Amino acid sequence: MLQLSVLPIMTPMNTNIIKKLTDLVGNEFCTTRREDLHCYSFDGAGKVFLPDAVIFPESTEQVSAIMRLASEYTFPVVPRGAGTGMTGGSVAVQGGLVLALTRMNRIIEIDDKNQIAIAEPGVITGDLQNAVKKFGLFYPPDPASLKFCTLGGNAAECAGGPSAVKYGVTKDFIIGLEVVLASGEILTVGTRTEKGVTGYDLTRLFIGSEGTLGIITKLIVRLLPLPEHKETFLITSTSLSRTTSLVARILSSNIRPCTLEYMDRTAIRVVTDMLSSPPPPGTEALLLLEIDGDRETVERQSVRLQALLASEPDCTCRQAATTTEVSELWQARRSISPATFNLRPHKISEDVAVPRTRIPDLVSCTEKLAQELDLLILTFGHAGDGNIHVNIMLDKENPDELARGEKAKERLFRQAIALGGTLSGEHGIGISKAAFLPLELSDTTIRIMKGLKQLFDPQNILNPGKIFPQEKASH
Ligand SMILES: Cc1cc2nc3c(=O)[nH]c(=O)nc-3n(C[C@H](O)[C@H](O)[C@H](O)COP(=O)(O)OP(=O)(O)OC[C@H]3O[C@@H](n4cnc5c(N)ncnc54)[C@H](O)[C@@H]3O)c2cc1C
Repeated sequence: MLQLSVLPIMTPMNTNIIKKLTDLVGNEFCTTRREDLHCYSFDGAGKVFLPDAVIFPESTEQVSAIMRLASEYTFPVVPRGAGTGMTGGSVAVQGGLVLALTRMNRIIEIDDKNQIAIAEPGVITGDLQNAVKKFGLFYPPDPASLKFCTLGGNAAECAGGPSAVKYGVTKDFIIGLEVVLASGEILTVGTRTEKGVTGYDLTRLFIGSEGTLGIITKLIVRLLPLPEHKETFLITSTSLSRTTSLVARILSSNIRPCTLEYMDRTAIRVVTDMLSSPPPPGTEALLLLEIDGDRETVERQSVRLQALLASEPDCTCRQAATTTEVSELWQARRSISPATFNLRPHKISEDVAVPRTRIPDLVSCTEKLAQELDLLILTFGHAGDGNIHVNIMLDKENPDELARGEKAKERLFRQAIALGGTLSGEHGIGISKAAFLPLELSDTTIRIMKGLKQLFDPQNILNPGKIFPQEKASH
């Protein structure tokens, strides 16, 4: 059985290896300069680990040659897209090589008749969305980071976004992949057909594998026809608990929103300045809800929504009148995460998910944690699928506050699991949550997962130190 806790002896990246890597991609695309290494030493989780080198391949063949070298000399390779991950997935915790896929950013094909696209992993998610829109098509996965994260990073984390409540997450839209294995072998999995059940579903296995099983070098994604019409509603309330319980009620009232986002009062406060019509004073929470489809369906469902809300006390509902208002609301929603740094310089950012009916319990638990541990905690996120972002704001210079923050994080995880939820709805495990994996997964499940890791990467060179709890400290 694989003992991932026992770190293999990794070869330091000496000048000989660096020379071989440079020969593969050219001088310009392999760097060991300290100022460059710093730029690739962190992600959204904020922990810093300096790699020994960063390489920027431009083709699958180059990725394959790099992995053959890594296999021969056993140095760690950490795949990296845009570095926007929230769990330390793309940082080199054991040193080694960061393999940045940003140069592999071509949209290879848009097949509008079959409604698929083929793209390289470094394509920015929003760029693919804009490109397919010209064909009247739609790529639904829409993480709030869509203007700067990559398709490869989305696949490796199984990113979700507001539209997941109706359309699903990244795994629901990837039907095939090209992957370079730790050995350097090139594997193609999946199909370019809507259906396909030949053998095990290895495509799904790679999605959400956080760069630990292979390097994704090509993706085949499904597309949908662009919905004809969309209406946007801003529902504000003076009661937090009534807002959070409204989520499940809306979804069980034969209303099928394509987004259903939630913000508590602190999340609203950090982005209020971005709104020309801010929520009324006294607002404790809001829901940003959209309905899309053909015009008749949207109108019918909008009427149903307004009827449901009419009987809600302390609640107002405003329908966005212009596209400017809609884009302002979304700009504000997508800016919450960066804007929280106006409150405190650091944070623990979690993305637990619970069944929708349990959102009120989860949110009231975070309120209690904030009170008991004297912390500033805000909640917002993709309420429609029970995925609540819990931001515990901190000042890292204050060790006592830091310790209370860590305590709050563990209690939050335990509560989410007790409510029938999960540690992560979309950000993955990385290094931030690795120690807590056994809270959710049984020994047997972890053993099977480690067995798969052993099969794909017997030398543990691909993104070592991620997902699984580390029993020995990494260097
Ligand atoms: C402001 C902000 C908002 C965000 N909102 C959301 C949101 O709404 N929903 C959501 O899901 N996430 C969100 N995120 C998190 C993040 O954007 C996503 O996890 C995204 O998928 C990461 O993409 P990336 O290109 O930055 O990947 P990176 O951060 O570079 O890497 C993420 C992981 O993927 C691996 N990886 C990257 N490329 C490859 C590849 N080609 N092959 C194999 N492994 C690879 C890395 O090793 C790492 O483990 C947000 C982040 C920020 C900063």
